[in-house]
Amino acid sequence: MPTILETSKADMLVYGMGEQPLREIIRLLEKGVPFNSITTVNQTAVLLNKDEKIPKNSNWEDVEIASHESCLKDKKKYASNFKVIEQESNKLAARRIFQKVGEKVLMINPPYPTMTEAEIDASFDLPYTRLPHPKYDKRGPIPAFEMIKFSINIHRGCFGGCSFCTISAHQGKFIASRSQESILKEVDTVANMPDFKGYLSDIGGPSANMYKMKGKIQSICDKCVAPSCISPVICSNLDTSHKPLTELYQAVDRHPKVKKSFIGSRYSS
Ligand code: SF4
Repeated sequence: MPTILETSKADMLVYGMGEQPLREIIRLLEKGVPFNSITTVNQTAVLLNKDEKIPKNSNWEDVEIASHESCLKDKKKYASNFKVIEQESNKLAARRIFQKVGEKVLMINPPYPTMTEAEIDASFDLPYTRLPHPKYDKRGPIPAFEMIKFSINIHRGCFGGCSFCTISAHQGKFIASRSQESILKEVDTVANMPDFKGYLSDIGGPSANMYKMKGKIQSICDKCVAPSCISPVICSNLDTSHKPLTELYQAVDRHPKVKKSFIGSRYSS
């Protein structure tokens, strides 16, 4: 299949976690920038006409992958494209990716840098209702909602690099962790929900035990292209301390209304 922008006829694709690109797109629209001129926002992809000028961004390096048409004829080209995409999604400073698709050119801008603690806290501290959309009101219980109703997301990203998984393509390899304070505030909100019986079903993330983990020397990680920090061997630059995580679990369990908390997300070894 060609890019989803071609098949869906959408004007723009926002990939990954959408709050940062969305905010930037809205800021530009409010400034009066026409929608079709918004082509340089991180974490977005657009289709350009073949003769259209490539939007400039001096901060980004560019890479061109094999065209859609050549991938249809040659599986190896498709595989080599996948490798580029996999490597770029595991880098701290990804390149901008171009691919010819028929008479058009797909341009995928690099993702935003990993969120800081203040940024991810600001996103999770917004006044969410924690309820399904009201249009489901008459349909009775929603199994997927029942499962996550009393669960709390503590971080984003995963450095496991499992070949079957796409987490790094939308959340990245580098971990963005919420502060303990922000998580405990949410625990308190959940604990005070009318049907809360004292059981938190999940205190987790994409891989539950990567909370606050990162490289000891950031400048080494800045240049790294490895898809995984733990396979085939645990990187000697990775700080694998579980202290912030175990302290968080203990703090959650001290909440007077919490009887038990579980880890429902998968654990990485
Ligand atoms: S240097 Fe090590 S810890 Fe840093 S990103 Fe690469 S594999 Fe992970």
